[in-house]
Amino acid sequence: MNRLLSVLILSASLLTFCPAHAIDEQGRFVLVIDPGHGGKDPGAVNGKSQEKSINLNVALKMGKLIEDNCKNVKVIYTRKTDVFVELYKRADIANKASADMFISIHTNSAKSKTANGAETYLLGVEENRTSANLNAALQENKAILLENDYETHYEGYDPNSPESMIIFEFMQNEYQKESLKMASFTQDQMVKSAKRPDRGVHQAGYLVLWKSTMPSILVELGFISNDNECKYLTSQKGVDEMSMSLYKAFQEYLDYHNKLLERAVPAAQAIGNKEEQKELPIYKVQFMSLKTPLKKNDKRLKAYPDIDYYTEGGMCKYTCGDTTDYEAIQKTKTEVQKKYKDAFVIAVYQGKKISVKEAREIASKIK
Ligand SMILES: [Zn+2]
Repeated sequence: MNRLLSVLILSASLLTFCPAHAIDEQGRFVLVIDPGHGGKDPGAVNGKSQEKSINLNVALKMGKLIEDNCKNVKVIYTRKTDVFVELYKRADIANKASADMFISIHTNSAKSKTANGAETYLLGVEENRTSANLNAALQENKAILLENDYETHYEGYDPNSPESMIIFEFMQNEYQKESLKMASFTQDQMVKSAKRPDRGVHQAGYLVLWKSTMPSILVELGFISNDNECKYLTSQKGVDEMSMSLYKAFQEYLDYHNKLLERAVPAAQAIGNKEEQKELPIYKVQFMSLKTPLKKNDKRLKAYPDIDYYTEGGMCKYTCGDTTDYEAIQKTKTEVQKKYKDAFVIAVYQGKKISVKEAREIASKIK
C-alpha cells in the first residue's frame, strides 16, 4: 500500500518516550561520566590551575557518590587519570557500553576576567544563539586539534571556523527531551545546591555530544579565567559542593527515568490482557530531518518503500519501512544506513511515537 506522505500527526504533548535501557547483565542503569580534556590537553588554564584537573576531581567525586549510594547504577568513566582521550573515543565508550546517560564535565574560560557562573548544554543549535554560547563550544571543540588525524573523524568539521557549526543544524536528536530534563536538573542543582551564578541551559554544537547515541549533556562548572571563581573551582569545598549538585541532579533524573519505566510496563500488561486490542507497535526507520517538507516530486521520496514523515519540534522527520517485525526493521535500517549512516529505528503505537524498548515490551506481552 502506498501511503506516501500521509502525515502522522504527533502532538508533542502526546509523546511518551523513555530512553532505551542499557543491556547491562544486572539490569542496571549505565552512566558514563566524561571529565573533559586530560594528558597533553590541559583545557583552559589560569596560572597553575588547569581545567583538566578540576573536571577530573569533580567527575571522580560525583561518580563515587553514585557508586556508594545508587546500587542500580553502573558508572563508567571515559578517563580516571590524567590521560589524553580523543573526543570521538569518548562517545564511542558510551555507545559501546549502551549507556543510558552521558555527562561531560568542563570548566569555562573567557577573555573577560569578570565572567562567572555555571551553565549546562545539550547538543543543538539555538534560535537566538549568542556569540558567548558559540564560543564556548568552539573553544571546547578545539581539543581535536591535538588529535592525530582529526580530519578523518569529524566529517570535515573545522575547529577554527564558526561556520562549521552548520553541521549541527540538521542533526537528528532522538534524545532531546531526556537531555533537556537532565540539563535542567543539573543547572538547577548547580544554582540551588552549589550556589553558582546561573547562566542557564543552552544548546550548542559540542563535538563530544555529537556521536553519542543516548541522552547527553555537558556542564561548564564555572570560569577558570575569573580569579575568584578559580579559587572556588580548585578548592575542596568547591569540588564537594559541585559534585554533590551533579549527584543530586542525577538522582532526580533517575527518579524521572524509573517513573517512565513503571508507567510503560502496566500499560503493556493491560494491553496484553485484552483480546480485542491486539494491535502491534509499528517500527519505522527515521533517516532524515528537515525544516521544510520535500516537494512531492523529490527523488529522495522514491528511494525506499513506505516513505512517510511526521513533525516534531518544528522539524519534518522522514521515515521509511512500516512493519511490526523487529528483525525486518533492523535489516531495513542496515540498508538505509548505507546512505544515511545516522538512520535509526523508531516505534509508533496507536498513533503515538513510543520508545523502541516500550514497543518491544508491548509486543512481547501481546504475542
Ligand atoms: Zn573544556
